[in-house]
Amino acid sequence: MGLFGSKENLEDIRYNAMSMMEKNQPKAAISLFNKILKQNASDIDALLNKGLALNQVKKYSDAITCFDKLIEINPKDAQALNNRGIAMAENGNIQEASECYDKAIEADPKYAPSYFNKGVLLDKLQEHEDALVSLEKAISAESSVNKVKQLEKEGKVQILTQYQLSSVEGKNKIENISIKHEDGKIKKIETNYVLGFFGLIMKLGPILNWGLNLDKKHIPVNTETFETNQKGIFAIGDICTYPGKVKLILSGFHEGALAATAAIRGLNIFL
Ligand SMILES: Cc1cc2nc3c(=O)[nH]c(=O)nc-3n(C[C@H](O)[C@H](O)[C@H](O)COP(=O)(O)OP(=O)(O)OC[C@H]3O[C@@H](n4cnc5c(N)ncnc54)[C@H](O)[C@@H]3O)c2cc1C
Repeated sequence: MGLFGSKENLEDIRYNAMSMMEKNQPKAAISLFNKILKQNASDIDALLNKGLALNQVKKYSDAITCFDKLIEINPKDAQALNNRGIAMAENGNIQEASECYDKAIEADPKYAPSYFNKGVLLDKLQEHEDALVSLEKAISAESSVNKVKQLEKEGKVQILTQYQLSSVEGKNKIENISIKHEDGKIKKIETNYVLGFFGLIMKLGPILNWGLNLDKKHIPVNTETFETNQKGIFAIGDICTYPGKVKLILSGFHEGALAATAAIRGLNIFL
């Protein structure tokens, strides 16, 4: 109850509950979600987050009850199905867990956490080939950083940045890798699989001060000449953008030829 016996504002309680989740205080969050559910037993958001909090405090059966209510409301809720799977797996019910992950993938074929969890489950069952297929699917479905951060929030992955691969160790298979932080400290990690991917960061540096128009860190160009908005400055390759742009070496050659021709024309040089 708030001031003068009025009901506490639902959104205030939700805000406080989510703050507790962020501060990694799931027990406090659960009692706040219960307050919301007392007012509205079908509050989807509260049901989901209460379930996540219950999983965090290892009350898996209660979490399953929570996710079941949610799935009753929306049988295609991939997040609820996935987290029900996690609770099932933790309770030792591997078959049900696997079915939950499959249902989540069926509901949302781009839902990476379920591919990931299925991969982990298969790995534990010694089905390494299938585990790898599932983990690769998780990575390709997971194109956005936010989704990876969600996995981290669920305690399923750890993100370590500012590290470079320093060494790979193992006898018949890779057993450990060591990664080196920018400050020189080395961290050894036990591994089942090592998957290599490129990470590209666009840093324009001084080009930013050239008065060029920018579109999401790319430079828009005129496709006849590949000239930018600044006369005499041309942009080709991955840095330039125009409708239908494809980032390929081949495109870069085509763009280069047109830019060079236009530049020469601009200089009034006759070859
Ligand atoms: C994993 C991967 C696979 C690919 N496979 C193919 C393929 O099979 N076939 C194909 O056609 N294309 C492929 N591509 C695309 C192709 O590599 C690019 O389209 C092409 O390399 C673009 O050439 P670029 O010269 O425009 O840019 P880049 O090759 O990226 O060169 C830009 C250079 O500028 C430097 N630079 C960046 N910022 C600054 C700055 N501020 N100051 C000074 N220098 C700077 C960078 O260090 C870099 O050396 C692939 C790309 C990736 C990532």
